[in-house]
Amino acid sequence: MARSKQTDGAEVWQVLRASAGQRNGEPAAAEEIAGLIEQLIVSAGLPEGVRLPSERDLAQLTSASRPTVSQAIRILVVKGLVESRRGSGAYVRRKPESSLAATVSLMLSLNQESVAHLNDLRLWLERDGIAQAIKQSTRAEVDAGEAALRKLAGSAGNTSAWISADTLFHASLVRASHNPYLASIYESVHETVINYEYRNWVDSGTVPHWLRPGEAAGLIALHEPILAAVRDRDDEAGRIAVLRHHHAMSEHLAASQA
Ligand SMILES: [Zn+2]
Repeated sequence: MARSKQTDGAEVWQVLRASAGQRNGEPAAAEEIAGLIEQLIVSAGLPEGVRLPSERDLAQLTSASRPTVSQAIRILVVKGLVESRRGSGAYVRRKPESSLAATVSLMLSLNQESVAHLNDLRLWLERDGIAQAIKQSTRAEVDAGEAALRKLAGSAGNTSAWISADTLFHASLVRASHNPYLASIYESVHETVINYEYRNWVDSGTVPHWLRPGEAAGLIALHEPILAAVRDRDDEAGRIAVLRHHHAMSEHLAASQA
């Protein structure tokens, strides 16, 4: 599918005019327009990077006002189906999983006592993800895990760098399960727990004692066995390594709430 042919005024968007025309002159609500565009992205298989018509053209196609169209675009941005680039327009994005983390994080914000449940879910997802990765992982995925482990060791001493390196390490190994739903849900849950765990240290710009630069060896010792189990396809070692990491994470979570 040629990308440049899919932009403003292209045939494909004319479907919106037909769909909007079925409403007997009633102006469409933003949710409805968002739904039509979503349907079009799915049914026409529009790839990432395809430019949507301008808001003015979309308003004309759907007989809606510009503010309604703007709101529809924002709905699609939140859903991870559209990306808004300032001064350039809106483009197709196919990352609905990006809204998972926002949802999980909002659930936790509204019920902070539930963090232990979320941490349990994180364990269950990682345990099954690693068990599958032990069966399914490729050499390239193990190599990526090794690179992520080096990054993780190098981030000791910097809380924010640690959060992203730790997320990358765990998420890339669970992704080696080759189950995209498990991998995306796991990553959202992990990201939410770890951001919650370190929120006070991030806010104060400080580092908890277990993340100090001199602790890199201990951090490696906690993470390397998970990677080794995937590399060696050792189920039992994988279960133990994931559980040990979970216990350490639970202790750190408790320390963060003290
Ligand atoms: Zn970790």
